[in-house]
Amino acid sequence: MSVVIIGYQQKINSLSSYPEIADDFLSLEISIFALHSQNVMFVEDAYGRGLRDLRISVTDRCNFRCRYCMPIEKFGSEYQFLPREELLSFEEILRLVRVAVPLGVSKIRLTGGEPLLRRGLEDLVAMLATVEGITDLAMTTNGTLLAHHAEALALAGLSRVTVSLDALNPELFARMNGVGAKVERVLAGIHAAQTFGLPVKINAVIQRGVNESEILPLAFWALENQIDLRYIEYMDVGESNGWAMQHVVPGAEILDLLEREFALKPRTAAYRGEVAVHWAHKGKKPELGLIQAVTQPFCGDCQRLRLSADGHFFTCLFASHGHDLRGLIRSGSDDDVLEKALSGIWQARRDRYSEERGKHSQKKAEMSYLGG
Ligand code: SAM
Ligand code: SF4
Ligand code: SF4
Repeated sequence: MSVVIIGYQQKINSLSSYPEIADDFLSLEISIFALHSQNVMFVEDAYGRGLRDLRISVTDRCNFRCRYCMPIEKFGSEYQFLPREELLSFEEILRLVRVAVPLGVSKIRLTGGEPLLRRGLEDLVAMLATVEGITDLAMTTNGTLLAHHAEALALAGLSRVTVSLDALNPELFARMNGVGAKVERVLAGIHAAQTFGLPVKINAVIQRGVNESEILPLAFWALENQIDLRYIEYMDVGESNGWAMQHVVPGAEILDLLEREFALKPRTAAYRGEVAVHWAHKGKKPELGLIQAVTQPFCGDCQRLRLSADGHFFTCLFASHGHDLRGLIRSGSDDDVLEKALSGIWQARRDRYSEERGKHSQKKAEMSYLGG
């Protein structure tokens, strides 16, 4: 396939919005072209951002009811989850991935809802692991079912796993997950993943007045167990969690606290678009990262696309609606049509919600549905 530089002029124009990255951006762009020029047709959005990461939600269901994501009052027994026939089949997911790779996608993350609730997930992993051009195949999970699946996932070709762990204190953990799940199960899942050779990272969402007390214990635990840990600012995703700015613990405050205990050295971003800012104690592994999506938005570098469990592409975590490609697939469209539809969706993208926080009034889709 030949190289088509879609939206290149728009990209050059848009660099004036982000002058601090312009030089870095152009030199990186040249090397990426050199690497991919044989068979990748880059697509770029209205601000010149490429398409690189695809997050795939395999289910909107979850066995937890974390208040910041699926509060039990909104996601109780009455809640209508997607019926089975509306979910993309594994073959349909594979097909959309094959369409997305030539447009630039090289990283995939399986998510949800809780991805390990999707029966046969290992089969999907094995299918995606065969796709040429995918260099990273990761999964985000709450970890409760990981001990049962770690070996099969590793054998199927999963590259790594991110486990969400907001507290080590058993009572607090049970309260935060909304269903009384035990932290030991998650720790057993992490241990199993490591045993079967899956690199593990931890994500911890920190909320004011809820789990600030866990910031240091999590860091000590991560150092002791040599596991990378990232603190995430509590975000205003969806319409259910009652988010308010005063519930956010800014990354700067977390860093202050950590610096009182650890001799932290910053690490520069490993690649353009890396969302976390990392530090390491005395420059050694593991790393402590901060994802400051609220106080330090990174929309200028955002190369993420999300695919909901029912086949809608979302160009932003805070979007109100997605673009239905399941309809196209099920009406018999061929791959060319799917590719044109997807590149058109990306080219029209103008999302920068976190940089414009407070200026939007549209209702946002729930994170458990569109994929965290
Ligand atoms: N169920 C899996 C899990 O919890 O790891 C995967 C899906 S979950 C939606 C993906 C990630 O989003 C988790 O790390 C979770 O902590 C994070 N998350 C959910 N709601 C959030 C919020 N309001 N602010 C920040 N992060 C959130
Ligand atoms: Fe479930 Fe993950 Fe949302 Fe918690 S954050 S409710 S584990 S989808
Ligand atoms: Fe990307 Fe939207 Fe998040 Fe900005 S707000 S970083 S555009 S997902």
